Amino acid sequence: MNSTLVGVQTAPSNSVADGTSPLPLLNLNAARVLILNASFEPLHVCSVKRAVMLLMHEVAERVEDGDRVLRSPNAEFPVPSVVRLRRLVRRPYRQRVAFNRRNVFKRDDHSCQYCGERSHDLTLDHVLPRSRGGGTNWENVVACCKRCNARKRDRTPNEAHMQLRRRPSAPRFMFTSVYGVMPDIDPIWEKYLPTIKR
Ligand SMILES: [Zn+2]
Repeated sequence: MNSTLVGVQTAPSNSVADGTSPLPLLNLNAARVLILNASFEPLHVCSVKRAVMLLMHEVAERVEDGDRVLRSPNAEFPVPSVVRLRRLVRRPYRQRVAFNRRNVFKRDDHSCQYCGERSHDLTLDHVLPRSRGGGTNWENVVACCKRCNARKRDRTPNEAHMQLRRRPSAPRFMFTSVYGVMPDIDPIWEKYLPTIKR
């Protein structure tokens, strides 16, 4: 869940003045709008600023609004949460989420994949140790606390009698490389994202 959201209900564009007092938007450059292809396939995540430009130029249409508003002296404008391109674009290649330390921690929710401890002092563990041919990739690297890492040493989880909380895999959806990291997933986006294959 994205802790910066105060609610997940969508606000239709005409409900802004009905006393629900939506929150003003603080950061126009934050990556918080999901862009769908004309086919409803998720493409990437962009800033509110860019999404509003797409809407203004009628390149995209609103699909879901969030619970925040943009205010100008004489108008209020619901902040889009999901927009859809009017024309189908071809994806040049299938984007994969960059494999790096930061994204592994993010995928694993900053929690040790053996004991579940949440911490900002985690390390990376090769499930099948590197010395035994284990790869450095989404399927073989997990976030691990230092205690579990020391306990596991150069062994497989089986040998160390340790159990992974879930099987590691590449994140289901890769976001724009402009940001390099996965933004938090807004609950409003869930129904447009592919389901997790595990
Ligand atoms: Zn641990």
